[in-house]
Amino acid sequence: MRLWILFIGWIGSVLMHSEAAAADSVVWHPKARTFDMNVRAMGLEHLLGVIKSETGWEVLVEPGLKGRVGVKFRDKPAADAMRLLLGDKRFSLVPRTKGGTRLMVYEGNRRGATQQVDGAMLAFEAEPLAPDVDDGRLLTLKVKVHHLKSSFASINADPKLTNIRPLLAGVNEMWRSTNIRFVADRPVPLRAANRDAEKAFAGLFKPGVSATAVAQLQSRILHKMLPDLPDRGKVFHIVVIYTMPRAYGAVYLPAKGIVLMPQVKFAALVDADGVWKDGSPVFFAQSNILAHEMGHSLSLPHVATQGNLMIDGNLREGGGVGPGSKLTAKQIIAARRQAFTGGPYVPGLNPRPAKPKPPGD
Ligand SMILES: [Zn+2]
Repeated sequence: MRLWILFIGWIGSVLMHSEAAAADSVVWHPKARTFDMNVRAMGLEHLLGVIKSETGWEVLVEPGLKGRVGVKFRDKPAADAMRLLLGDKRFSLVPRTKGGTRLMVYEGNRRGATQQVDGAMLAFEAEPLAPDVDDGRLLTLKVKVHHLKSSFASINADPKLTNIRPLLAGVNEMWRSTNIRFVADRPVPLRAANRDAEKAFAGLFKPGVSATAVAQLQSRILHKMLPDLPDRGKVFHIVVIYTMPRAYGAVYLPAKGIVLMPQVKFAALVDADGVWKDGSPVFFAQSNILAHEMGHSLSLPHVATQGNLMIDGNLREGGGVGPGSKLTAKQIIAARRQAFTGGPYVPGLNPRPAKPKPPGD
């Protein structure tokens, strides 16, 4: 009896310990413009760096400004959240049409906020996922982000051009009903794997290459051009490429376990020097295409329902992947079943044995 009580006491202390060790978190919902935060005694500048990374905001502070912050709240509008975490310090939060929102933090005068804060990331560990039943818990999935490197301008990703974290924050907001969250690692460079395939891909942009030709050739070229990552099926991969021909938004390649995402939509033509014309980086201010591709990576095939996140781009009124972000109860169950494996749907590899219907592009 006594031992039993001791044992319960021990379990209790372990649980309490793991509660205390739970990681700090800063979650940004870009559409609602609200924050969830659970932060204990974090240096102010570090926290502002995390906010910069998650939101994509420009953050300026008055040099020498110090403080430690401990806050816990959910769904607080941005300005309220800043007021809570900044205490007696002053701030201004200004949305701008160019350059995004700017946060300035200062003690005296706004003009004192001259120092750019460096982006920072919180440590993240994927929790082990091995339940017998889906208990509805929050599933946090690790995403490795790669910038594709190549001597071809159409392929070579510019690390400064795309900030994946705010983009993924938008994805997470759309995926909120599933209680699944994607958390990105710091981007790393990835070499394209096959020189001939790189050349063939660059060739798809040449004037005179028809849409039909692109549709027929692109997939085979991409499968050659992208390496077989050793941990495919075990972890989610987003590979950022500079652009794709014919206004392709993004694509999930099930055999590779890779979501391929262009930084710039629709570079229609190259000039004689291989320099891009008509690229628009504004395109990826939206997260819905990435949210759709993450759906494929979680085994969801296309549907024909207007307003559904997984609608086939060819069937959508207006064309392409649309702003709809609905998921049905059935889709949520299927996506969570895949999420419990910890990795994306890769036929024959994950899950094993392979059963689900193959998703489209
Ligand atoms: Zn699709």
